[in-house]
Amino acid sequence: MEHSARKVVIIGSGCAGLTAAIYAARADLKPVVLDGYEPGGQLGLTTMVENFPGFPDGILGPELIENTRKQAQRFGAEFRSGAVTAVDLSRRPFTISAGNETYAAETLIVAAGASARMLGIESERHLLGHGVSTCATCDGFFFRGKEIAVVGGGDTAMEEATFLTKFASRVAIVHRRNEFRASKIMLDRARANDKIRFLTPYTVQEVHDVGKKSVERITLRHTETNAASALEVSGLFVAIGHEPNTKIFKGQLHMDDAGYLITRDGSKTNVAGVFAAGDVQDHHYRQAVTAAGSGCMAAMDAEKFLAGHK
Ligand code: NAP
Repeated sequence: MEHSARKVVIIGSGCAGLTAAIYAARADLKPVVLDGYEPGGQLGLTTMVENFPGFPDGILGPELIENTRKQAQRFGAEFRSGAVTAVDLSRRPFTISAGNETYAAETLIVAAGASARMLGIESERHLLGHGVSTCATCDGFFFRGKEIAVVGGGDTAMEEATFLTKFASRVAIVHRRNEFRASKIMLDRARANDKIRFLTPYTVQEVHDVGKKSVERITLRHTETNAASALEVSGLFVAIGHEPNTKIFKGQLHMDDAGYLITRDGSKTNVAGVFAAGDVQDHHYRQAVTAAGSGCMAAMDAEKFLAGHK
């Protein structure tokens, strides 16, 4: 356990956490940023970002993250690696455990993000980054002229499949039900695209070939007949939603049914002195620029809170 309490501890180093770090550091609050499981967040997994204001020619996601990180460091933000495993928000200073360290914090900014949901089969895990992807924007380019599959029946699956037809020769949307959760407009757009076909009701049972470290085909199971069949594809895009990284806050911070943190009056949570920013509290906009904006708000809210609790 560190001896003295930190003024600001930030959980997460994506766009929201890093922007909070810049603002907190410039306010001389000497923030410590705990990197988490996916340092850099979702932007770290992207290629070209064309809609972040200020970059007329676009910027690579990892580069944008690296720049923002350096910017925070320049003003004195400190970075520590290690995922947070437990928090105690029942009294101030709050206690945060990450790796072998325990931190005490007068204020806490939760910017832990949301991670892509996975199917949970062993072969999917082995082939992630080798033909299995959770981000069409990041990896679509690699599948030029190839046949691929997209799993999911929501808006993300429709959007990713439609986007992927720019590259792929054919896209199969594999969904476990005959009905779709996707909005009518997104579904209609995918249906009208002659490169897209729909395979329902199927689940993905296996991704091959782990031995060759590349995707060559997937095994599907018809959910009504249980019959197995093979589909030859070079890529599998898993588009079944995101999971906010909020498990460690259960019972301490208020969250909605999907587990996203609930904020009010800017970035405030139900615990005074704890603020939330970015995708961990936003399943609607989920943009780099909105995450950055909410990170700024959280740092300003933390600064104001500290000024009132000297
Ligand atoms: P979602 O709406 O929760 O849909 C997830 C889909 O994945 C569902 O069809 C679900 O099947 C399927 N699924 C979940 N777990 C699965 C599993 N283990 N195996 C197989 N299939 C599984 O998630 P989303 O599509 O990411 O959308 C999230 C939110 O963002 C929505 O509110 C959406 O409208 C919004 N969004 C909007 C846009 C846009 O407007 N441009 C784009 C993307 C997302 P079931 O239906 O059977 O449960």
